Amino acid sequence: MRGGFDGLILDMDGVLLDTVPSFTACVVQTARVCSEPPGLRGDWSEAEVERLRLSGGFNNDWDGAAAMALLGPASGPGDGWARQCAALRASGGGPGAVVSLVGESRWGAMRAKAEPAFQRLYAGPRSLDLYGLVPTEPAGLCEREGPLATPSDLEEFGLPVGIFTGRTREETQLGMERLGLRLPPGRVVCDTEARFRKPRPDGLLALAEALCARHPLYVGDTVDDLAAALNARGAGLDVRFAGVAQEGSERALRFAQGGAVLVRASLRQILGELATEHPLLSESVEEV
Ligand SMILES: [Mg+2]
Repeated sequence: MRGGFDGLILDMDGVLLDTVPSFTACVVQTARVCSEPPGLRGDWSEAEVERLRLSGGFNNDWDGAAAMALLGPASGPGDGWARQCAALRASGGGPGAVVSLVGESRWGAMRAKAEPAFQRLYAGPRSLDLYGLVPTEPAGLCEREGPLATPSDLEEFGLPVGIFTGRTREETQLGMERLGLRLPPGRVVCDTEARFRKPRPDGLLALAEALCARHPLYVGDTVDDLAAALNARGAGLDVRFAGVAQEGSERALRFAQGGAVLVRASLRQILGELATEHPLLSESVEEV
């Protein structure tokens, strides 16, 4: 046990890996390529992707890219996009909120167009390995991902570790290679089944069982990660959430409002703080 926790469950993107230059950039690049009407004019950046993710239900970046491609041309970036995202949030967020604006058939057509475009931009020459697509790009944005923690950071923390990510199995494997991390298969939950998509709690429940953890800590960086933790608590698991977010950001505020035990700018800071304040207790010590 450490700080009352007996297992550590980690999101991958934005927590273990810096994916701003890969997945976040890819949302904007895909939206530019696929936008209807053509031409996503103006200065679109990671701030617009962050705004969209905060509206909830866009943990899947293929959905996010499709939403931006459909709604971005009319709103433009900045304040117009912020108003659009507020409207999406007000109507429940995620693909359902976009469908209510553009209709099922436009959404379906854009989703089908955006997914392979995104995959080719992300994977580059590895498109065939990752997605079964003939590569068209000389380089992939995935090459720009960098580790935010090392295997020894996790080992030193001293709790059993699991990973709960929205990546596909192949993307997860790529991320694990980038991190130099090896975990038993049962300790990694990725997007292999619809029930493992955040904010559904099933991934956290499965990992708690695999880790034999009754009081796990889940570290994530999106409102869907927080919602997954709250849903798992609703399902009876004593999981707590710690959020990765810059101090003073809207995300940090939302995490604090949602009951996060800690909100810090990086996983390393979260682990460092918990390790400093809470010495590692063995199960036998706890039982005494
Ligand atoms: Mg993430």
